[in-house]
Amino acid sequence: MPQGLRAMTAYLYDLFARNMPAAGKAFIENHDGRIINFGDVETGSARLANVLVSLGVVPGDRVAVQVEKSPEAILLYLACLRAGAVFLPLNTAYTPVEIAYFLGDAEPRVFVCDPATKDKLTSVAQQAGVSAIETLGVAADGTLYERMQAASTTFEDANCSVDDLAAILYTSGTTGRSKGAMLSHGNLASNAQTLIKAWGFSDKDVLIHALPIYHTHGLFVATNVLLMAGGTMLFLPKLDPDAIMRLMPRATTMMGVPTFYTRLLQRSDLTPEATKHMRLFISGSAPLLAETHREWRAKTNHAILERYGMTETNMNISNPYDGDRIAGTVGMPLPGVEARVTDPDAGTPLPDGEIGMIEIRGPNVFKGYWRMPEKTAAEFRADGFFITGDLGKRDERGYYHIVGRGKDLVITGGFNVYPKEVEDEIDAMPGVIESAVIGVAHADFGEGVTAVVVKDKASSLDEKTVLANLNDRLAKFKQPKRVIFVDDLPRNTMGKVQKNVLRDTYQDLYKA
Ligand code: AMP
Repeated sequence: MPQGLRAMTAYLYDLFARNMPAAGKAFIENHDGRIINFGDVETGSARLANVLVSLGVVPGDRVAVQVEKSPEAILLYLACLRAGAVFLPLNTAYTPVEIAYFLGDAEPRVFVCDPATKDKLTSVAQQAGVSAIETLGVAADGTLYERMQAASTTFEDANCSVDDLAAILYTSGTTGRSKGAMLSHGNLASNAQTLIKAWGFSDKDVLIHALPIYHTHGLFVATNVLLMAGGTMLFLPKLDPDAIMRLMPRATTMMGVPTFYTRLLQRSDLTPEATKHMRLFISGSAPLLAETHREWRAKTNHAILERYGMTETNMNISNPYDGDRIAGTVGMPLPGVEARVTDPDAGTPLPDGEIGMIEIRGPNVFKGYWRMPEKTAAEFRADGFFITGDLGKRDERGYYHIVGRGKDLVITGGFNVYPKEVEDEIDAMPGVIESAVIGVAHADFGEGVTAVVVKDKASSLDEKTVLANLNDRLAKFKQPKRVIFVDDLPRNTMGKVQKNVLRDTYQDLYKA
């Protein structure tokens, strides 16, 4: 790449460009056979950056994008970096009503949607005051794609510095309004550099990429790391165990949510032989059951590397690449990232072994919530630590354990019950596949501990037996008042159990 010729530098894109391998090397191999090589990354993102400028985009403008996964969507993200615009990806599951909120809140200059949703979303975007509405499809189609073909392959990057915004990602927001996490060029750059070193990524890596690209995991953790390392990504539209098994002999790494691993474990062709070309399996975005970790190791000889992060902070804590990857833990703070466990109310640090609030500080931590200065202030301590909302502890070896979101804590008769402790006991029972413990309004106790359990089809386990098994394992106040059996737990696309959905479903359970 002719880096010496760059007059201005768009901080993060410049770091990518400086490390780019030969133009002919593949960056994305799409499932349909299309290949975007590193030369296309440079010229394609330049074309799209020119298109954005022609649509009136100036540095600082938001570009909202609700499109299906495609290599061009990644080029659009890079084009935003180069033009100094703020990339704002939106979950493809959002309805027009939800899109109306995001467009109204973020006031983007441009809204890009799928060709199939344009009719439905045009009036929504217009009502939100967005004048430029473009489409981008999955098969090299859409108005943006057409404009791109006609645009110049060179672009003079905007001048962006470390603190300029690169992206806004709205958090899933299960309570209250969804908040836009503002991530700077520096936040994303520092995390990619840290992860490359911590997980040993290089230009030899080939990553199986079956995650969505509107979320931090598939977009920043996967894409930024592989782009900065000069590796290759094998793009699948979604979790597809057959396709993943087919790709494994060519791949070296995979990043997935726990569901990837539980689904792959059901296959008889998951063997040490089938995974021998792989050097690393990474899991995150939701808790990986210790059982899944152990089964994966038994079947493949690979210890999954579990890590912990969130939209607001990128990646924070990770099991080691070299060293013990301990099942049921998320590992130790990444280099340059500080973590601590505090008393949730007082904010004072707690000793090892005690459960409290996980707090994070470092160059990876976001700049605040878009247009919500009070919410932002409320979630930072005076010394700059971000209050994650996750409860956990640090053990004597320095490994962190996440026990769940603070808002999922159950308070029954004035006692705190950490759902994970009860879930672990239930999950260990023969015949149980998994469980979720929630608090449900209860006249006597405030909240009643309630277990929602998925069992093996063949198992005859019933409520009485579960409760009897827990009797000598857990203090009375932690024992569920009711155990409900279901076929599946509700999960979002990132594999997170939607406890808010369970709480809604069972809200009347203890009402007379
Ligand atoms: P998101 O912002 O969608 O990435 O969600 C971040 C949240 O996912 C965190 O605050 C945690 O509650 C959860 N999470 C991410 N990674 C893990 C993990 N390895 N174990 C448990 N929870 C996790």
